[in-house]
This record gives sequence, structure tokens and C-alpha cells, in this order.
Amino acid sequence: MQKHVASLSLALRATLDMHSLNNEGGEGNQIQTRMVDIVDHLGQLHNVNAISGDMLKHVLMEHFYRQAREHHLPLCQSCQSFNTNRINADRDFIKRTEAEKVSDADFLDQMLQTCAIDDVAGVLVTEKRSLPRKSISEFGWVLGLPDRVSTGSYFHAKYASERSSEKRAEDAEGQKTGANLGQSIFHRPASSGIYAMVCHLELARIGYNDIKQTYAIDETQRQLRTTLLLESLLHTFIELNGAMRSTQLPHLVTLEGVLTTSSGTLPAPLISPLVGGSEDNNSYREQTKQVVQALNGTSGESVQQETFNAVGEFASKMRELIDATAPTAWATGR
Ligand SMILES: [Zn+2]
Repeated sequence: MQKHVASLSLALRATLDMHSLNNEGGEGNQIQTRMVDIVDHLGQLHNVNAISGDMLKHVLMEHFYRQAREHHLPLCQSCQSFNTNRINADRDFIKRTEAEKVSDADFLDQMLQTCAIDDVAGVLVTEKRSLPRKSISEFGWVLGLPDRVSTGSYFHAKYASERSSEKRAEDAEGQKTGANLGQSIFHRPASSGIYAMVCHLELARIGYNDIKQTYAIDETQRQLRTTLLLESLLHTFIELNGAMRSTQLPHLVTLEGVLTTSSGTLPAPLISPLVGGSEDNNSYREQTKQVVQALNGTSGESVQQETFNAVGEFASKMRELIDATAPTAWATGR
């Protein structure tokens, strides 16, 4: 049965072991992990390990880019090579719209028709005009649950096979230019723990021109972009890209949470998985259920929720959703 989905939210708790997805930079040969301050449900302040939402958004778009190429979705010149400047770096498009004195509303139409990535990921057009396109996908910070994450610093070495005195002198000379050819040691952090994640997709806005309040692309193209974005969302959590994956590929041990969808104008409800605290993994799901019931009232089921307790179960629920989802069209003059 087809299911019209206008909005989708995910609240997750993920157990990730020995990952290094969140490096902040280095001091000497010591790489730092990212720490942020959060307040728990009892008002207590905690300093926790965290991964920024930029990383998950970037991972989602990497997967969407691959899907878009495979399924021949339109992409601007810039996004064809996954240039993050998006349509700003498509010189022909910018030049033509400038020469033709295209209005902002028409520019938006043409941009949505020209590029699926600019449509879904959003962009701030800064070339020749200032025009924002709000992203369809939104991610929050990935936050370690208080007292449930531990970060260690591990010693690594880069060995040089040739260690003669001549070679060492040559490498030392190279050090001055930053070539870093010699043997070196460094410390790298790795973290293990339970992390809270939040994500929202505003699917009804795919192809939607926010100035004209109409869709710039047809139903078939909206369906394709919707399906591929949902596929990419599934891939994001199954294949977590990020820093240092070549030797510190994260172990994803559990993935539990709640998935909500809305078919109308209501946003799919999203309650932070931090709710309830580290000891309680059910309150955020229970509260989500209450919100879903309250939003639906006695009439219909325009808001729905699914809970899951493992990676496999999450993947199955997402698969069902992907196969059933048809985009919801907002009432427009279209
Ligand atoms: Zn683009």
C-alpha cells in the first residue's frame, strides 16, 4: 500500500565502538577529540564527546550523490564532481541567469530543475545574488550520553624502512619544508560509547519553490528524489563515513530508536533520545508515542511511529518505508 510521507523524523541511540569520527584538529603530534557541554533532563551540566551534525549531513549527501549519478538525476556542473560550492560554482548557469536577468523566483525554479543536490541539500546562492535554499535534511549533533562514553589516546608510529645516517639527514632536511618523510610517532584518540542522534527530513519540500509556493519539478522526478533520499538515509547509518575510517572503521553495535512520519502539514514529531537520561532507554520513545496519539486525536492516523531495537530491525523498517513511500503534494496552484 502506498504511503504519503511529507515529513520524517528519527531519534536514535547508537552504540559505536572505537571510532574517531570527530577529530577536532591536532596539537603537535596529539590529535584532539571533540567535547561539548550539554544539560541533562535533571538540569545537570555534562561535558560529553560529540560528533557534529555536519558530518552526518555530508555522509548523507555522499550517498545521495552516488544514487543520483546511478539513476541519472539532473545535477549542476558543480555537483557532478561533488563540489560543495554547489550551483555557485556552475559558471554557465550563473552567467546565463545573470545575462537573462532571471528573477529570484525563476532562478529557484531553474535551480531545482537543474540540480537534485542543490534541491535536497540546500545552498546559499552568493554568486551575483543572495538567495537561500533551505535544506530538506536536518541533523543535530551526535551527543555521547553522560557517563556512557570513554575516549582513549593510542600510540601509533609511522616506520621508515631505510634508516641509514644519510637517509635520516635527508629526511631531516625534508622536515623543514613540511614533507614529513622520516619516521614519526603520534597519538590518536578513539571513543566508545552510546550516542544520541536526531534527524529530520522535510520530504514534501523536495522540488518545492518556497518563493512561488509551487513545485518546480514533476511528480515522477519528486518520487525518484524522495526514494533515493530515503535510500541514502538508510545507507548513512549502515555505512558511517567520517574521519579516519581507513584504520578506525567504527563498530556499530546497536541502533535503537523511533521513526515517525507525517502525511499532512504537521511535522513528524521528534523527541531527543537524551530524554530519560543514560539509565532509561524508553522514556523518549514513550513520550514520542504520546505526542503521536495527541496529534492524531480521534481522527485518522496521519502521524505514525515505528520503534526498533537493532540495526537489522531499523534497516527492515526503512526498507518497508522506502518501498511504500509516495511524496505528499502540498496544496498549491500547480
Ligand atoms: Zn548542484
